[in-house]
Amino acid sequence: MTSTAQRRVLLAKPRGYCAGVDRAVQTVEIALERYGAPIYVRKQIVHNVHVVKTLEERGAIFVDETEEVPAGAIVVFSAHGVAPVVHEEARGLNLRTIDATCPLVTKVHKEAVRFAADDYDILLIGHEGHEEVIGTSGEAPDHIHLVDGPGDVANVTVRDPERVAWLSQTTLSVDETLATVKALRERFPKLMDPPSDDICYATQNRQTAVKEMAARTELVIVVGSTNSSNSVRLVEVAKEHGADDAHLVDYAEQIDEAWLAGVTTVGVTSGASVPDELVQGVLAWLAERGYGDVEEIESVQERMRFALPHELRKDLRITP
Ligand code: SF4
Repeated sequence: MTSTAQRRVLLAKPRGYCAGVDRAVQTVEIALERYGAPIYVRKQIVHNVHVVKTLEERGAIFVDETEEVPAGAIVVFSAHGVAPVVHEEARGLNLRTIDATCPLVTKVHKEAVRFAADDYDILLIGHEGHEEVIGTSGEAPDHIHLVDGPGDVANVTVRDPERVAWLSQTTLSVDETLATVKALRERFPKLMDPPSDDICYATQNRQTAVKEMAARTELVIVVGSTNSSNSVRLVEVAKEHGADDAHLVDYAEQIDEAWLAGVTTVGVTSGASVPDELVQGVLAWLAERGYGDVEEIESVQERMRFALPHELRKDLRITP
């Protein structure tokens, strides 16, 4: 057993809310204030159970499909983005829509539309069934093929190997995506790159911060939900870069005391959809068990912010 005096926590920075999540959560909060409850939200606004529960308590109603929203009501589209067909469904139901799709996801949608217009087969690196992948694929369903990691490259079929481009989900592992692109290029030497990185700044920065911290810890605790792609990736990155053990928890209460056996240094971070109060809860839980010495390790400074969706800005008379 380690002595209490040796025990400490390394706290990753940046961690938690990214600009896209901050904007999406604010969108629902402001819509509730401005228009009153209920505000319908298609899918989880961001992939975090605590955020969803808190907004539900304030009057947001989360639905899986647009058709569950009563005609004429207000519906917010989540940060992960939606396919064009969802906008059409909403128009058909006469819904008032507020699109909280992260601008960095919209960027990938636009790239898909452009490559499809130039008649490329688009190899979309991402996880099957993830909402972002479904939304992006819907921009050009006849041109997009999903590639779920390097092991999936051999399964890809395209019309013309000379006319192939790749795009990716924004919240993947940077290293695994590079490995997938390498394998794709071996099969398709003329593979076109996207104009800029699709894996977003927040995903990359949180992974960089974990890499710097992981080798100096025996245990890494990532605060985040199991359906949060970027949070799950942080657990994998921690293990790949030197942490003996790493776990994902929504709340401090989910930490198993047995994980701390023989551990001197615990690393703590959180996914891009996690409010910092949950991290503070984990730090308090650890402090009660002798891990009260916290050192923040800042690897990158983040200043990114996004303007609110234009539908809200127009109503609030905010000029861009
Ligand atoms: Fe946007 Fe990246 Fe945040 Fe996703 S993780 S909402 S792409 S900033």
